[in-house]
Amino acid sequence: MSDSRREFMQIASSAGALAATSMLSHQAIAQQRPSKIVAISSGNGVPAVTKAVELIRTGADAIDAVIAGVNIVEDDPNDTSVGYGGLPNEDGVVELDAAVMHGPTHRAGSVASLRNIKNPSKVAKLVMDRSDHVLLVGNGALRFAKAHGFAEENLLTQRAREEWLRWKERLSTKDDWLPAHSPDDADVGVFAPYHRHTGTIHCSAIDSKGGLSCVTTTSGLAFKIPGRVGDSPIIGAGLYCDNEIGSAGSTGRGEANLLNCSSMFIVEQMGMGKTPEQACLAACERIVKHTKMRRLKKPDGKPDFNVSFYAIRKDGEFGSASIFSGPKFAIHDGNQAMLLDGKHLYKT
Ligand code: ASP
Repeated sequence: MSDSRREFMQIASSAGALAATSMLSHQAIAQQRPSKIVAISSGNGVPAVTKAVELIRTGADAIDAVIAGVNIVEDDPNDTSVGYGGLPNEDGVVELDAAVMHGPTHRAGSVASLRNIKNPSKVAKLVMDRSDHVLLVGNGALRFAKAHGFAEENLLTQRAREEWLRWKERLSTKDDWLPAHSPDDADVGVFAPYHRHTGTIHCSAIDSKGGLSCVTTTSGLAFKIPGRVGDSPIIGAGLYCDNEIGSAGSTGRGEANLLNCSSMFIVEQMGMGKTPEQACLAACERIVKHTKMRRLKKPDGKPDFNVSFYAIRKDGEFGSASIFSGPKFAIHDGNQAMLLDGKHLYKT
């Protein structure tokens, strides 16, 4: 990236943050008329926010827009963290997790450990629209998808299979099985989950009626124990929205978000007056504070993993933050799609 481009991005990022430094009360946010169409996503989500805003401009509800946005990445065999082409579990089987949440009706739907269906976000929307439930898992989720006409297909690409095979051939310390250990043991399961490939896509958007919605979809942690479910399909952990306040979601170590209900925490923090960026940073701090097991810490006591958050407020303000520097986020501010540097607690 050129220096001038980097500088532009930094300016754009700070401008977004500065515009929001006024602390708004929950009530003030609820009363404020939505000022703009906005879509935010993880760093792999430039095509997703572009598509989402394009659809919102034609009058689409934010939930349909964000799902259509992430479908691009679910269908992409070259993104090995989501949908078709996602890295498999330790048996070499791709298992997908996804959830959607619709702010205006405060409904949600999700699927976990879904095999053979490449667009789990579409199935999650059907769970919301066409069942009385919020979460379907495994074979039940697959049967539900097939009842609605989804075709089963092999999601394991050559590239993902070869990567899985390389991992399997070097097995031993590089899996998720842990021996008995105490909170003070350091070198347990040596590899630490996030030293290996992870990834996910989250997308939140505001539509032209001021409706907030979000989606998170993933193949989860590569080479996970079959049946392992991360934060992505769990409402409140990997995503959450409140139509009067804002919307948030996450990528990174799902176990940390499951233990901290991070996305709901961020939305509630915005409701209590924090800007989206401040709320994302607060969620990072909360994870750091709650990470007590020595095996999950570096020698300096900081977590040995990263988590990133993305948030938009009802009035269109946005922000993103990670525990460690590096991750970028995609934003469409109604005018253009950009890839910006998020804030962080610690430099990598
Ligand atoms: N949060 C995802 C999970 O834990 C993985 C990721 O975003 O990297 O399944």
